[in-house]
Amino acid sequence: MLGPPVSGKGTQTDLIAQTFDVPHISTGVILHAIKIDLSNPLAPEVMGFMDQGKLVPSELVNRLVAERIKRADCKFGYAMDGFPRTLEQAQFLDQNADVDYVFLIKVTDATIIERMSGRRVCKNGHTWHLKYSPPKDPAVCDTCGEPLFQRDDDKEETVKSRLAVYHGEMDGIIRFYSDKGALIEIDGEQHIEDVFRQIVRRLVNDLRSKIGWK
Ligand SMILES: [Zn+2]
Repeated sequence: MLGPPVSGKGTQTDLIAQTFDVPHISTGVILHAIKIDLSNPLAPEVMGFMDQGKLVPSELVNRLVAERIKRADCKFGYAMDGFPRTLEQAQFLDQNADVDYVFLIKVTDATIIERMSGRRVCKNGHTWHLKYSPPKDPAVCDTCGEPLFQRDDDKEETVKSRLAVYHGEMDGIIRFYSDKGALIEIDGEQHIEDVFRQIVRRLVNDLRSKIGWK
C-alpha cells in the first residue's frame, strides 16, 4: 500500500488484513516488536537507531522485512504498508516476494497540508482537528482542559518538506510498479469506507478476469 502521509494507507492496510484474514505487515510494527524483545539479537542495534531518532538503515529494514514475510502466517499472503520507501527497496522486495497488487492512495498535496496543519494536540496526547473534529475552543482541549498546540511535524513548512521527500522517492517506485503493470491507483480523497470499497472492487474485478466468472 503506497501513499503519502495521512493518506489513510495504514487504515486501509488494516481493513484489507482484517477482511482477507492475512497479517498486516508494517515496518513500524516490526521494528517496535524487535526493540522491546530483549531475546532478539537485533534488539540493541534497532533500539540504538530508534532511541537516537535516527532512521534505521535500509539494508537492516530489508533484512527484517524479508525475514517477516517468510513466516508461516504469511503463507496465504499479507498486506503491507510503510515499505518500500525507496526504489532500491522496491527492487529488493521484488526479488524476495510475489507482489500481486500495489495500491497507490492518491491524495493531493493541498489535502495533506489541510489534514495535517489543522491538527491540534494537548500535552496528554488528545488529538483534535480544527475542521474535522473541532474542539469547542480552538485553544483548549475539551477532554482535559489543557492548552492545545500544533506539533512541529504538523506545521505547514514541515509538511511541505516531508512531501518533497515523499515525491522524490515515490516517483521512482510508482514508475517501477507501473511498468510491471501492478499499480492500481485509488482515489484517497473520499471517506474511509469508500476508499476501501474501491480497493475491494479492484481486487474482485481482477479475480473475475483471472478466474473467468460469468
Ligand atoms: Zn487533553
